[in-house]
Amino acid sequence: MAQTGKNRTVEILNAAAAGKYGVLAAIAYNVEQLTAMVRAAEAKRSPLIIQLFPSTLKQLPTLAYAAAAAVKSATVPLSLHIDHAQDAAHIREIIATLPVDSVMVDMSHYDEEENLAKTKILAKECHAKGIAVEAESGRIEGGEDGIADTEGLEALFTSPEDVDNFIAAGIDILAPSIGNLHGDYGPSGPAPGQLHFDRLTAINKQIDNRVLIALHGTNDFPPELLRQCIENGAIKLNVNKLLLEVWNEFLRKNAAGMSLVKLIDEGMKVLQVETERWMDICQSSGKA
Ligand SMILES: [Zn+2]
Repeated sequence: MAQTGKNRTVEILNAAAAGKYGVLAAIAYNVEQLTAMVRAAEAKRSPLIIQLFPSTLKQLPTLAYAAAAAVKSATVPLSLHIDHAQDAAHIREIIATLPVDSVMVDMSHYDEEENLAKTKILAKECHAKGIAVEAESGRIEGGEDGIADTEGLEALFTSPEDVDNFIAAGIDILAPSIGNLHGDYGPSGPAPGQLHFDRLTAINKQIDNRVLIALHGTNDFPPELLRQCIENGAIKLNVNKLLLEVWNEFLRKNAAGMSLVKLIDEGMKVLQVETERWMDICQSSGKA
């Protein structure tokens, strides 16, 4: 493990790896979603990683401080992670100015050699501030909010050589490309065989506890598939639409006929219930 000091994200994931359960790393776009997720963690006595996109840091600059305050005041282990940070200057600004625990240094839109070189330099700078680093090996297809879309760039599966190279670059968390994609799979989730479990199992074996595995691209996952990923070594489960769709659906259905205050209250309840359900599925409930 490259990150040696006390780090909230690494501590949460190390405990999960030892206990063989998964931890939700949940994207929040606003303070209502953040609050509902933190309430779920408290209610379930579950650890939780709160994730913000770099685009959200620009859209709502105070949200990172709200998240950091939640991390600090919670009675369960929480951490604040910045997902898919793809711009070196922005990464340097984030680690110099924001109270974050970990950052995904995502240089996967560069070719492999440049990806590794940039990751290595930025990982060192993050570690100097006690911030843990995640990186994407190979290339996960698709795009998410504010992330440079890799569509048109070929998805590249993570090879054994990638694994060693990224560990050597000093990262703490590896996000492998195993057939997962950023975006929607369709209502029933990935097609049978779309996720390469043999590859995930081999990566986990090769890693041998040197770094932790993050799984990206979980939209539309059925519970049993997420469980299968955890059983094969994925510890940090990045979730976005998987949790937030209930919130979106609630707002779509009720925005016209409900007062704003009630809409927010009820929407937060719906999202808290859904977050608690996925904490149970990850088996992180009761682990805090
Ligand atoms: Zn991702």
